[in-house]
Amino acid sequence: MVMHPTKLLLWDIDGTIIATKGAGEAAMDLAMKDVFGIDANLHAIDYSGRTDPLLGRMLCEHYGVPDSPEKNQAFVDAYVRNLSEILAASPATLLPGMEVLSILTQRKDCLQGLLTGNVRAGGKVKLESVDAWQYFKFGSFADNCFNRNELAPKALEIAREDFGVAFTPKQVFVIGDTPRDIECGRHIHACTVAVATGKYPVQELAQAEPDYLFENLSDTEVFLAILDEVDATTIQ
Ligand SMILES: [Mg+2]
Repeated sequence: MVMHPTKLLLWDIDGTIIATKGAGEAAMDLAMKDVFGIDANLHAIDYSGRTDPLLGRMLCEHYGVPDSPEKNQAFVDAYVRNLSEILAASPATLLPGMEVLSILTQRKDCLQGLLTGNVRAGGKVKLESVDAWQYFKFGSFADNCFNRNELAPKALEIAREDFGVAFTPKQVFVIGDTPRDIECGRHIHACTVAVATGKYPVQELAQAEPDYLFENLSDTEVFLAILDEVDATTIQ
């Protein structure tokens, strides 16, 4: 008998799974130099939780340089190229509690995917630098996407089409480190799990009212118990 997964975990990358010590930011600044010839600083804009293509657009607006779909793609390509070089010299680090990823990979009742503002190539480079790309069966990435909220329905669609499972909202967990991740999860009525391993402290994340809020996921048992509650409530 084929056992279908009963839980879908959708993970954010930056500040949730890994810390890149500013590699992403530096790669964006270098991409602006490569494509538009300007000395940009990503910190000049409100960049947390935005998609990579949107950051390119926002930087162009901020610095008053003309943008186009072709230029935006060139920016993304330059960003990935610079990111690879930076991470090759100084790899990302896995955040506390992320041992849970390998535990969940062993479980047939859990399907793990990525739900991220990263473009696929950028997310892959980041996670490969900590050997964590292997834990994810699929991803809803931000290639050509300017609105993060569109990525959550897309993740459910991929789960349905590629894995043949139509998860109910109660079976879906969106895990992230910013209020935008919580908003994104709420958009599909998923269970939202916030972790304070990124830029936002617990108190600030609490204001966005996630269903669960953790300093980090190093208390694996507590997190797994939350996942197991799903079976108790949805399986008759
Ligand atoms: Mg994040």
